[in-house]
Amino acid sequence: MSESTTQITFHDMDLSKEILRAIKDMGFEAPSTVQARTIPLMMDGADINAIAPTGTGKTVAFGIPMLEYVQLQDDCVQEVVLAPTRELALQIGDELTKLAKYIKGCRIAVLYGGQPIPKQLNALKRKPQIIVATPGRLLDHMNRGNIRLSGVHTMVLDEADEMLNMGFVKDVTKIIEATPKERQLVLFSATTNQDVLTIAWKYQNNPVEITVEATKEDRPQIAQYVISTEQKQKMDNLLYLLDADVYQRIMIFCNTKFMTDRLTSDLKKKGYDAECIHGDIPQSKRNVVMSDFRKGKYPILVATDVAARGIDVDDVEAVINYDLPEENEYYLHRIGRTGRAHKHGVSFSLVTFRESVRMDEILRYMIAKPLPLHFEDEVLRNEDGTAFFDHI
Ligand code: ADP
Ligand code: MG
Repeated sequence: MSESTTQITFHDMDLSKEILRAIKDMGFEAPSTVQARTIPLMMDGADINAIAPTGTGKTVAFGIPMLEYVQLQDDCVQEVVLAPTRELALQIGDELTKLAKYIKGCRIAVLYGGQPIPKQLNALKRKPQIIVATPGRLLDHMNRGNIRLSGVHTMVLDEADEMLNMGFVKDVTKIIEATPKERQLVLFSATTNQDVLTIAWKYQNNPVEITVEATKEDRPQIAQYVISTEQKQKMDNLLYLLDADVYQRIMIFCNTKFMTDRLTSDLKKKGYDAECIHGDIPQSKRNVVMSDFRKGKYPILVATDVAARGIDVDDVEAVINYDLPEENEYYLHRIGRTGRAHKHGVSFSLVTFRESVRMDEILRYMIAKPLPLHFEDEVLRNEDGTAFFDHI
C-alpha cells in the first residue's frame, strides 16, 4: 500500500464520489497492490482469478467494483458474493455496508445457515441488489423460490479455495449455473487448488489471472516461533505466553471442537477471560463472541480452523497453535490472523516430539511458497541466556 508498489491512487480509478467518501471514512489512503491490480480490471468487466495473501484487502478489491455496478433503480439481485463460513459472510457484509454508506438505496442482505429463515425472508422482501451468502443457505433459498439469480451481473467467490475444499463444489456449481452465462465471475483466494482451476476453466470467459506476492509494504510482518514441548506441558507453555502480558488480543487454535471447548473452560477456571468459537456453537452465540472479541471486550479467543477462516479482526497480536494444523494451508491462514493491515504480529506453535514431523512439513510448505512472511531474527531468551524456544 505504498508509492513504490502502487502508483495508482483511489482517485485515479474513476470511482464515484460516494465510494471515495466512504474510503476516506474508512481511513484508507492508498489502494493495496491487489486492489490496484484488480479494481480497474473488474470495473472493466473482466473475469478475474486473483490470488493474494491474507490481510491484503481482497474484500475491498471486489467490494468497490460491485458497488459501482449496482443499478439502484433495479430491484433484482445483481451481485452475489459466496463465502465459505457464516462469520466471513457477515464480515464481508459489514465491509460492503461501510463502503456503501453514501450510496442511498443500496441494499445488502447476508444469508447464512443457522439463522432463522423468516428473518432472512424479511431481508429478502427489501429487494436487496447485493447478496452475500454461504452456498448451502443460498441454494436453500433458491430451491424455495425465494431468490432468483437470473439478473445477476457479477458473482464473486471469496476464499474460493477453502469453499471448494469444504465440499461446496456441487452447491457452488449449481449457484453459478443459475446465473446468466455472460455474468462476470471473479474468484479470490489466498492459495489456489485444482477445484478453483476447474471452476475457472468451466465458467470463466477469458479470465485474467492475478497473483499478488505481497510486497514489502503489504506483507504481514509475522514473527514465527516454535516451542518444543510435551503434550502435558502445553498448558504451562500457554500460560507462560499469556502471562507475558504483552498481548491484548490473542487467538489460540485447536484442531477439534472438543479441544477448543476444553481449553477454553480450563483457561476460564484459571481466571483467564477466554471465549471460543467452533461449528457446534449456535450461530447467534458465535456472532456475539466474534463481535465482542473485535470490540476488545475480552482478550483470548480459542477457535477451530473452519470457524476462524477469513475472519478479519484488527489488532490480533499473537496467534498460538495449541495443536498443529493437519493441513499446511491452515497454518498459513491461522498465522495470517495476525500482522494484518501493516501491523506486526507474532505466532507461537506448541510442538511435541510427535508433531515435529508435521512442523517440518509445514516449514517446507512455507518455504516453498512465495510467501508474505517475514522471519524475524530475534530469539526470546530465558534469564540464563538460553533460547526459550526455537525460532523458525
Ligand atoms: P483479505 O481478504 O485479503 O484477507 P481483508 O479484506 O479482510 O483482507 O482486509 C484486511 C484489512 O485491511 C481490513 O481491516 C481492511 O479494512 C483493511 N484494508 C483494506 N484495504 C485497505 C487499504 N487500501 N488501506 C488500508 N487498510 C485496508
Ligand atoms: Mg478475505
